Amino acid sequence: MATTERLYYHNPNLLEFEANVLEAIPLGDRFGIVLDRTAFYPTSGGQPHDLGSIGGVEILDVYEDERTGAIVHVAAQPFAAGKVHGRVDAARRRDHMQQHSGQHVLSQAFVELFNWPTVSFHLGATSCTVDLPVEQVSREQASRAEELANRIVDENRNVAVCYVASENIAEAGLRKPTERAGDIRVIDIAGFDKSACGGTHVRMTGEIGPILVTRIERVKKQTRIEFFCGGRVLRYARDANRVLESISQTISASPLESAAAVKTIWDDLQRARKRIEALDSSLLDVEAAQFPVENGLAVGAFEGRGIETIKLLALKICARPGLTVLLADKSDQIRVVFARSADRSMDAAAVLKQTLERFGGRGGGKASLAQGGGLVAENAAVVVEFAKSLVTSV
Ligand SMILES: [Zn+2]
Repeated sequence: MATTERLYYHNPNLLEFEANVLEAIPLGDRFGIVLDRTAFYPTSGGQPHDLGSIGGVEILDVYEDERTGAIVHVAAQPFAAGKVHGRVDAARRRDHMQQHSGQHVLSQAFVELFNWPTVSFHLGATSCTVDLPVEQVSREQASRAEELANRIVDENRNVAVCYVASENIAEAGLRKPTERAGDIRVIDIAGFDKSACGGTHVRMTGEIGPILVTRIERVKKQTRIEFFCGGRVLRYARDANRVLESISQTISASPLESAAAVKTIWDDLQRARKRIEALDSSLLDVEAAQFPVENGLAVGAFEGRGIETIKLLALKICARPGLTVLLADKSDQIRVVFARSADRSMDAAAVLKQTLERFGGRGGGKASLAQGGGLVAENAAVVVEFAKSLVTSV
């Protein structure tokens, strides 16, 4: 397999090209070809591959064969042989150039301000991230790096591609050392950053557009910085503004005062929840105190009250002496709670076991309190009637 001349190395704005097919590669249900030259960028160095078409066939993936250095273009249909015309998707290429060049600028800003090197870079479909080898990065520190990066963009500095022989690379002043051999491709942002990189980059930093840090997240012992560049900043601002508008309309506050208003609403909600819990508990106290009892048996069938409530009710009823409590509730499924007062001898777990044998479901517990769920019956009343027959027949 022959290697491929990489047209994007020298001209990242070249999006249409003519090439000769060197080899067709069978890839299961897909088809691969190697060309003598290509403008398609293969996935590498954190940057995803280009899309587009070759000879009218849509390209789905582009990768580099590490063994041979050939670039393989992948499609769902077979390619024609001979001479082909290639076309790279311009919007995707431009977006990748903005994100990747923006990353070089932002990474160097973190080095210059805090001496934090970038340990990894990811260019995703929606967001980009760099990982820094520190456990904590404050919003203020991230903002300073963001500000410096945007200043470099504003200054519209030249971005040059040059080649340095590996024996001279130590003196080249790279941001990060490289172990590559031969002629090393270096991206040189005038007076700011030099990095060994095979990616596609803008010609002037102004083309990057704004750089925005959106998230700072600790990942293991490192910090992941999420950021957007160029067109993505505009799309993000539009989306974020739409969300902010919707929140501000719902709560009738101006967009930039929404955060404080939401905090007030949230605090009120927490207080209201606590109050409801306290009221619910008081109501259950009353219900338990007045719960009808016949021959030492407190039996209840409910709908939609939930397991936590009937369990609490059963415990509160059992605070009264001499009682056996059999409760069932039908919400999303039928659940039961069987319990007894401390001075009674009924085995709640045994009654539950027999009830589950009759109606199915699962559960368990102790002699004083057992609970189960997933019983199959017409309603909760049928289940407690059966349990009652077990208890009264003893
Ligand atoms: Zn790079």
